[in-house]
Formats: sequence, structure tokens, C-alpha cells
Amino acid sequence: MSKFRLFVLGLAGLLSIVPVCWSDTAPKQPSAKATPGPARGPSITFSWIHVDGPYIAMTFDDGPSAKLTPKLLDLLAARHIKATFFVIGENVAENPEIVARAAKEGHEIGNHSWSHPNLARMSDDGVRAQLQKTDDAIRTAIGARPTLLRPPYGNLGARQKKWINEEFGYKIILWDVDPNDWKRPGPMVVTNRIMKETRAGSIVLSHDIHPGTIEAMPSTLDQLAEKGFKFVTVSELIGLETPESPKKSPATGSGTATSTTNSE
Ligand code: ZN
Repeated sequence: MSKFRLFVLGLAGLLSIVPVCWSDTAPKQPSAKATPGPARGPSITFSWIHVDGPYIAMTFDDGPSAKLTPKLLDLLAARHIKATFFVIGENVAENPEIVARAAKEGHEIGNHSWSHPNLARMSDDGVRAQLQKTDDAIRTAIGARPTLLRPPYGNLGARQKKWINEEFGYKIILWDVDPNDWKRPGPMVVTNRIMKETRAGSIVLSHDIHPGTIEAMPSTLDQLAEKGFKFVTVSELIGLETPESPKKSPATGSGTATSTTNSE
């Protein structure tokens, strides 16, 4: 009996510690009804979302590209698919009209820094400048501020996430599906990797600056749709979040983002 009690106490202790690790010290707890798990309500960092339904978010980073992003927008429009673009400020300043078009067509625009540095290695002032300049460029282009940040390479310290969330109001968005398209493995490989890894609640990482990624999209999007997946923006996906059973172990994939190499 005492052993059992010890076990229960130990388990309770574990449960109280684990969410803190995962949620990056989450200061705000908008829906703290259930025990928090990875990428859950109280968290400010998300790599996938627990949802009741076949919802996924396609995300495209490092653009806009003058040549490729319009092609991608055409592909998405033809399929009535909404995606999320994590844009680089420098590129927004060069091609604001493409960002404006994306926003007008219902896509979400997120901050991906001004010049794609490793923010984890920068001073707070340096990070602040990277984010603010990009925030300003996006606001100029689309008339609204972004609410999401994807740090380049997925790299950002827990303390940084906290102050950035407090200061800019950003949620930090990672991913759970990474086809490594930046290595340009060919469109078929990109498609196959995405098809293999995507599940309900997935945040799929890709880049709209590589021709092979754009080539992979018609088949990828069509196959995902055939499997019954429904495409939403990242903020919509977060809005669809449902409580996860506290007993469930950290879902596969939710931890991959922070441990992967600098694919982003
Ligand atoms: Zn990037």
C-alpha cells in the first residue's frame, strides 16, 4: 500500500513537472481545465495541436519569393486551401504585394524574422529589432500585425519565448512534419515524406523558395485532401484545440521540432 502511495505521489510529481518543461514556463493559462500536456492550451509554443477532426496546417517559410510564391498561391486558390506563410522581413519589404495578395486570399502571415539569423544566439535588443522590423513590414503590407512567430531553425530559448510572447503577443510556432525540402530531395520525396508523417493536428513545414517544393504541392495537397484532411491556418488550428487525455504520453512528433537539425 505504501509502495502504491509512493508511486502515486511520484506520478503526481512527474505530471506536475513535465508540463512545465513542455510549455516553456507558459505564463498565461487561458484554458487550464485539464492537465497540460505538450503543445497544449497553456503553452505558448506549438508543434502540433490536439484536435477532434482531420485538421492540419500547411506552413511555408522564408518567402515571399517573387517567382515561386505566386505560383503556390495559384495552387492553393485552385483548391480553396488556406495556408500560413512565415515570411522574412527583408523579402516582405521587397515584395509587399505578394504578401498582400496572400493575406487577401485568406492565408495567415507570420513573422519569421528580418534576415533569418539564429535568434537564440542574439541579444534581446538584436532579437527585438529583427522581430519589430518584420512586424512593421507585415503591417505595412497587409494592414494588420502578425500574431505568430516561427523562429529561424526553430531555435529560441525558453526565456526568449516568454519575453517575446509578453512583448509582441506572439505564439511560437514550430512543426511536427518536416520533409526536409530545403535539401531539395525532389518533389516525389517531399510529397512522400509529408504523406507519411501528417496526422490530425499536424503543422507541416515547407519552404516556398524551393522549386521542388512548389512542384510537390499539387500532388501533396490532392493526396492529403483525398485522405480526408482539412486545411486551416495555424491560428485556426490552435482555435480548434481540444483537451487531451492527461494519461496520454507525449504524442509522437510533438517533440521532434526542438530536436531536429536546423532544417528550417
Ligand atoms: Zn526559415
